[in-house]
Amino acid sequence: MRTVLLAAALSLLVPVRQGAQARTARTPWLLFPLDVRSFDRVSSKFGMRKMHGRRALHRGVDLVAPRGSLVVAAREGRVADTGRARACGWYVTVEHENSWRTVYCHLRSDPRRLGIALGLRVPAMGVVGEVGSTGHSTGPHLHFTLLDDRGEARDPMLALYTPAETLEVLKRMGLAR
Ligand SMILES: [Zn+2]
Repeated sequence: MRTVLLAAALSLLVPVRQGAQARTARTPWLLFPLDVRSFDRVSSKFGMRKMHGRRALHRGVDLVAPRGSLVVAAREGRVADTGRARACGWYVTVEHENSWRTVYCHLRSDPRRLGIALGLRVPAMGVVGEVGSTGHSTGPHLHFTLLDDRGEARDPMLALYTPAETLEVLKRMGLAR
């Protein structure tokens, strides 16, 4: 596996969300899933939006970064799925200890080329891929989905630390300057 940036111990700092939680309150427990230095902007939020003339649920959040930017696991977990899907393109799904899952879409290439295999344990901030534009995508970005323990999509922005907060967490752990 390519670069493992951080120790799994990082997760000790971050409280695990349990099944029942407010749907609207922001309670971050996931680190920002991109190399924060290359993150540009959120181009599309979670929720209903018009797609191809019809209203449909955008099941994740779109995070813009240059092609090739590192995509990292938002929390430690195990690779539960990886492959290529029509809309999602090359993707990786990571399952966390509370059965919630995070999905990383539109990756540049087959994650298996980076050593990402089914069942692999990944630490928080471990590289799972590179930003690309595979699948239904109009330009390089990471589509990040958060699924609860019943497989229902939740708003990732309520669960994610911002890039600045993520950097703060890493600094406190002595893992960034
Ligand atoms: Zn998207």
